[in-house]
Amino acid sequence: MLEIRLNQPGDLELREMEPLRSPGEEEIRLQTIYGGICGSDLSLFQGRLHHATYPLRPGHEILGKIVEAGKEVGYDIGTRVVILPNTFCGECDFCLQGRTNLCRHKRSLGVNADGGFAEEWILPGRYVLPIPDNLPDEKEVLIEPFAVVVHAFNKVNITEGTAVLIVGCGNEGMLATCLADHLGADVTAVDLKPSKREWVSRLGRVRAAKPEEIDEETFDVVIEAAGTKLSVEQSIQHVAPGGAMVMIGMTQEANIPVMQMVRQEWTLYGSIIYNYPDDYLKSIQYLRDERFKVDEVVSEILPFSQAEKAYEKAMSGEYGKILLDFRGS
Ligand SMILES: [Zn+2]
Ligand SMILES: [Zn+2]
Repeated sequence: MLEIRLNQPGDLELREMEPLRSPGEEEIRLQTIYGGICGSDLSLFQGRLHHATYPLRPGHEILGKIVEAGKEVGYDIGTRVVILPNTFCGECDFCLQGRTNLCRHKRSLGVNADGGFAEEWILPGRYVLPIPDNLPDEKEVLIEPFAVVVHAFNKVNITEGTAVLIVGCGNEGMLATCLADHLGADVTAVDLKPSKREWVSRLGRVRAAKPEEIDEETFDVVIEAAGTKLSVEQSIQHVAPGGAMVMIGMTQEANIPVMQMVRQEWTLYGSIIYNYPDDYLKSIQYLRDERFKVDEVVSEILPFSQAEKAYEKAMSGEYGKILLDFRGS
């Protein structure tokens, strides 16, 4: 049994795992099918996530199949599941309000606890969600990253004709573009990289632009998914009077023009991951809808033995989402 290990930033290793113990009463053994590489995996690799711990087995966008289950776990062997990589206690004040993303005891698999980039691994049964089998694997593995977008979109009203600006066309930016387009919005997506603009323009009825091309334009809703100080500060300037900006990208700090914000009645939202299970279920609902087009988001699937190459490609910023295939080493 092989796993991917991140010994420390920049040091990725494919190695033989310790033999797996039997799962406990409330645990399952999961056989990984696909693992998605996301922006936070790259930050983790580059040592830019302050809450990360090393050494670590990365991987939090995981589609898999249950191959062994403890007796308290209600799922059958062979059940296909996606994992919930952000744990929650279920008992704190936020969990009791259904806001599991703010749990006071949250841990993140693949960031500060071992994740799922392994052929097989063990995790608590409560952190998996069974999925309908009529969805292709390539869509199922998007349930987790797409739930991030679903959660962000819950905060604003995007419908037919809403002018939406997506800033940053990484994985989340692309998924946000797909959803805004699906909802009938007039979507503009900006990115510094020509390859990203090219990629995002294939996703639907989308205008892809360089940041300087939108100049003085304003939008009802701005989704900030680039996560740099400059992008946040520029994005705010594109919010229409009375409009809103949702920030899913992360940067330490940025300057907010308070006078403008007050006078123009802008609303700024931060949005972190998702609430479980609501946003996952909504994510699945969209992905099951044949009119919802996301196929173009995944650009490449590589065997997990080529993880290093996959990380390099993902880091180049020239591609869409890259998946690792964990079947058949
Ligand atoms: Zn992710
Ligand atoms: Zn909690």
